[in-house]
Amino acid sequence: MKKILFVSSEVHPLIKTGGLADVCGSLPIALAELSQDIKLILPRYQSLKITEEVRFLCTVRVDNRNVNILETRLPGTQVTVLLVDYPSYFNLPGNPYVDELGEPWPNNAERFALFCKIAVEIAMDRAYLDWKPDIVHCNDWQTGLVPALLSLEYERPKTVFTIHNMAYQGLFPKATIYDLNIPGPLWHIAGLEFYDKLSFIKGGLVYADFITTVSPSYALEIQTAEFGYGFEGLLASRKASLGGIINGIDLGHWNPEVDPYISQTYTATTLTKKRPNKAEVQRQFGLAIDDKIPLFSLIGRLVEQKGIDLLIECLPEMMSMNLQFVLLGNGDKAYEKQLQVLADEYPNKIAIKLGYDEVLAHVIEAGADIFLMPSKFEPCGLNQMYSQRYGTIPIVRKTGGLADTVTDTLPQTLAQDTASGVVFNEASAGALLEAIKRALILYNVPSAWKKMQVNAMSKDFSWQRSAAEYLALYNNL
Ligand code: ADP
Repeated sequence: MKKILFVSSEVHPLIKTGGLADVCGSLPIALAELSQDIKLILPRYQSLKITEEVRFLCTVRVDNRNVNILETRLPGTQVTVLLVDYPSYFNLPGNPYVDELGEPWPNNAERFALFCKIAVEIAMDRAYLDWKPDIVHCNDWQTGLVPALLSLEYERPKTVFTIHNMAYQGLFPKATIYDLNIPGPLWHIAGLEFYDKLSFIKGGLVYADFITTVSPSYALEIQTAEFGYGFEGLLASRKASLGGIINGIDLGHWNPEVDPYISQTYTATTLTKKRPNKAEVQRQFGLAIDDKIPLFSLIGRLVEQKGIDLLIECLPEMMSMNLQFVLLGNGDKAYEKQLQVLADEYPNKIAIKLGYDEVLAHVIEAGADIFLMPSKFEPCGLNQMYSQRYGTIPIVRKTGGLADTVTDTLPQTLAQDTASGVVFNEASAGALLEAIKRALILYNVPSAWKKMQVNAMSKDFSWQRSAAEYLALYNNL
């Protein structure tokens, strides 16, 4: 059994701004189920959705500040959560990173440095908890100083640093190092310095014993200039200690067999029951209710990362084909407007809903035939996994987690019963359009299509599988 301290700035369902919270709320539970002794540590924000009892544990003193450590449990579980209680930094309205107006907190460096230093005190068992972890598992830039500070300690735990998205790096002006009391030995270009600035993420990338990302393909991609944000050289130099582990999905919440949000539940052996769900999507989006017309869909943030521009370029050409397209999402106003214009121009074929709607996301996953995910980059991605679980065939670009979780449909993969989607390479509208045409051809061969659906629905996207990989990594360290 390993003792694991799991460090994250957000954990679902206590607090969530993005996919990081989902991973940090699920992986620790799966590790606990594998009989590991795991404790999470999280700042005590004002908006935490605490449901279990909270008790005071101790006061830790760092940088002349007294910080209280509280203890609760992850809602509905036995997993311990340590809360770093420092009200002037964390007991505020707004979210973990920005204030109510959406502006980054001006003292984000101080806030997350304090969080990191407390995690180090606990990791070194200097907080009188009588518990010293074997592994400290850190996530994204907010926790990057933990591996750096621990590197200076004698008889320290091993450190793992997981990159959920390289696009966020925690970069601050050089003078911050004095405010934060960063030890001198960490300040150099092979340390925390990044072009004369302080980089939190570099603390993880340089000093962690092992670095992971959320898919094997993304682990390779971030070693190239296109995806590495200037860290590609450093990451390439660490490639022996860098790997990818695909996230799991919440199989209870995303399960067509019991999903309470959909018109008709179904399984891989009752796929005809998918039909009423398709009719429901067509009804809710005001499209003709017709089972024969292939129904394409997209759910997600409307941002450049997701390849929305490629889709917008394709849509006019798609209008000459026999298909319908529904979209649920919000994001860049320019994309929203262009999509609205197209929906107004082709009301019989395109229907969109701009907004965030968890229930409708389930309805679409259950009812659509095809799900589009033409992302420019995708560290892991969840929707392509949800789609496969619902027998909704994904069309994805071959990048990051999309490349690792969707098997292209070719004569060979059909024969091997692995084909589960349509995969294209180039980030261009032309390549996406070719993939769409290929999907339409397959859709018209019911025996092939059904095979793809069954293959997709039988894939293992469980957190148990991911957790077993993390545990193997911890044991190797
Ligand atoms: P990312 O984390 O980059 O946004 P993922 O595919 O990993 O992309 O996860 C996105 C998650 O957010 C999925 O659970 C998806 O269903 C959900 N989602 C995104 N936009 C919407 C929306 N407009 N309505 C409902 N769910 C959404």
